[in-house]
Amino acid sequence: MKTTILGYPRIGAKRELKKACESYWSQNIDEKTLLEAGKNIRKENWLLQQQIGIDAIPSNDFSFYDQVLDTCLTVGCIPKRYQNIHKKNPFDLYFAMARGLQNETIDCTAMEMTKWFDTNYHYIVPEFEKEQSFDFFSTKIVDEFKEALELGIKTRPVLIGPVSFLLLGKEKEAGFHRLELLDKLLPVYIEVIHKLVTLGADILQFDEPCLALDLTDKERKAIEITYHKIHQKFPDTKVYLANYFDCYGDNLSTVLQLPVDTLHLDLVRCPSQLEDILTSKFFNPNTKLSLGLVDGRNIWKNDFEKSLKIIDKALTKVAAQNIYISASCSLLHSPYDLDVEQNEKSLPAEVKSWLAFAKQKLQEIVSIKALASSTNEEYAELFEENKFANLNRTTSSLIHNPKVKKRVSELKNADSQRQNSFTIRQKEQQNYLKLPLFPTTTIGSFPQTKEVRSWRSKFKKGLLSQTAYETLIAKETEDSIRFQEEIGLDVLVHGEFERNDMVEYFGEKLNGFAFSSFGWVQSYGSRCVKPPILFGDVSREKPMTVKWSTFAQSLTDIPVKGMLTGPVTILQWSFVRNDQPRETTCNQIALAIRDEVVDLESNGINIIQIDEPAIREGLPLRQENWQNYLDWAVKAFRISASGVQNKTQIHTHMCYSEFNDIIASIANMDADVITIETSRSEMELLDAFVNFNYPNEIGPGVYDIHSPRIPSVEEIDYLLTKAKNVLPKEHIWVNPDCGLKTRDWPETKIALKNLVKAAKKLRQQELALL
Ligand code: GLN
Ligand code: ZN
Repeated sequence: MKTTILGYPRIGAKRELKKACESYWSQNIDEKTLLEAGKNIRKENWLLQQQIGIDAIPSNDFSFYDQVLDTCLTVGCIPKRYQNIHKKNPFDLYFAMARGLQNETIDCTAMEMTKWFDTNYHYIVPEFEKEQSFDFFSTKIVDEFKEALELGIKTRPVLIGPVSFLLLGKEKEAGFHRLELLDKLLPVYIEVIHKLVTLGADILQFDEPCLALDLTDKERKAIEITYHKIHQKFPDTKVYLANYFDCYGDNLSTVLQLPVDTLHLDLVRCPSQLEDILTSKFFNPNTKLSLGLVDGRNIWKNDFEKSLKIIDKALTKVAAQNIYISASCSLLHSPYDLDVEQNEKSLPAEVKSWLAFAKQKLQEIVSIKALASSTNEEYAELFEENKFANLNRTTSSLIHNPKVKKRVSELKNADSQRQNSFTIRQKEQQNYLKLPLFPTTTIGSFPQTKEVRSWRSKFKKGLLSQTAYETLIAKETEDSIRFQEEIGLDVLVHGEFERNDMVEYFGEKLNGFAFSSFGWVQSYGSRCVKPPILFGDVSREKPMTVKWSTFAQSLTDIPVKGMLTGPVTILQWSFVRNDQPRETTCNQIALAIRDEVVDLESNGINIIQIDEPAIREGLPLRQENWQNYLDWAVKAFRISASGVQNKTQIHTHMCYSEFNDIIASIANMDADVITIETSRSEMELLDAFVNFNYPNEIGPGVYDIHSPRIPSVEEIDYLLTKAKNVLPKEHIWVNPDCGLKTRDWPETKIALKNLVKAAKKLRQQELALL
């Protein structure tokens, strides 16, 4: 047996790459220093894998920004708007494509970015034209292969397979389908392969994660054509074909008949496919299998006993020398190294003993191979250790809270139902809240200025007392309330100045969460996130937001909206436990949020927003699994929202979403008001709601908060009029696209004044009609 991985994190153990890129962007380091930083990370990663005992080490898994963008450059898929960028150095063009470029002579936008399958990683979306041509442009993959050779390591270069590359992109004009470009693209792949083979590469990894999706016959055919062609051109070069994040599913028989050397299986996401493969009539026992046993996307220790059973099963049909032991997907989605975590307060030693980050996962892969290959005494200890850690986790009192389990098991249908239907609630809310037509509000956060962030960091370091910190936050909150009153908003917010991050804030207050200090995972480019670790039954000890919300409400007679993060978003943006269904964990969070909602209500907060920006991204990859997910996700939201009286108005907020294919479920969430992102698409995203006849109130965002641009009254008026033409006017709210925390105060103030003016104008027009 051999050990391997599909890829290693590349941001650097201490986020060296992030720092280097950002310094380069702000012109504090030069090109050479940035190149050097990349080189050091690659070297460190390769040597570490070698030292721990990974037999087959990948290369080209490194990237300065994104692996799909790298592929665009490899095959010369460069949109026209970048063609005049002078190539003073290799990074000008690259970062212009990634981040846009604006100077005296050039002004071009960045390429679009979107989520990588169902992960929180974002890739750059390739752009295709009808007359698209390709050429072997960037030699990065070759250079990195050579670089590793110089260190004495013959790597397995990783390429995004041509079919996935095309499918991940977008046509930028009508009249063709991007798959039709395969004929032009394949010759460039052949050139790249040729170059690698000339340098001595004997095995190449093709990532075709599109195989985890529902494919059409044409798309499957494209896979066939591609790998037959490659085999025909390079009969002696081995192809290691990798799919991950879900089953091969109905693509399996196609895949099993391909002339490839190795098939990689994600056995974490799809354990059942091993059996399917071994019993398929198309299975060729000479095909090697790469068993993705170690979870590349979560942080729990592997269960060796379970893994060894799976290997035994594979061994019934496949010779040991035809088996690779591996992780389920690239370790890009794992944090670097658990050993550096030393803060017992945020990550208790017991919880830590259940975890494995990327470096530990390498060790696990090596240990599993050792255990599978030998019954030697010296390995028995490894096995026992692993067994003990996992056993401890299943029984630990840190995890299990019988009260929480009981409460979830006793959930009834009524717990996810408001007292009455929306029409009845709407009347009661109108009578109680007495809001004007086209009420104005914001999404929750106000600018998190440098000062606000510095207070929090000083407070956390103990340089600022709790009282001093809270006095500052209170002052900031009061200022924001005064500002909102002054400009005439109808529903105010407290501003979220006390919050670091919308998930972390709640995780820190709930039982069942732990936090790493350095567990960063790349989200996009130089951006990293540090997801909370949801390890145990979730419960709320005491109110989490009531203090700041009631404080803000005490300052004004205008309603202040309570602000919470919803259960699905908390689940989606954390590392979650794998010892119970996600649904169960989500219901536990939902109950904790429900208690908070009820507490806010009983403390005089009658409008409460429960943010669910992550609902859409939780959708499973295959459509057959959507409904099940949507059912429990919507139900969890409803559990969190349904503890209140009719007159209490529940809002939700969603952004980064396409709503079309899930609109029925969004309506089924039954929030009294939903605010959504729509301004960038000029209300296009609203169509889903209009076509569906969305029954409840809706605030289509009229101010794109992702840009420092200030929208004029006319622009907002234009968007609102568009909305008014398609929605019942009693249902329309006026608000920005999303929270304002990334903006600065000066632009925010003018933009919100314009927003209120536009709403008032519309209101007057309506009155004039009466
Ligand atoms: N209430 C949050 C804010 O205003 C919502 C953020 C989000 O949708 N991502 O920041
Ligand atoms: Zn948002």
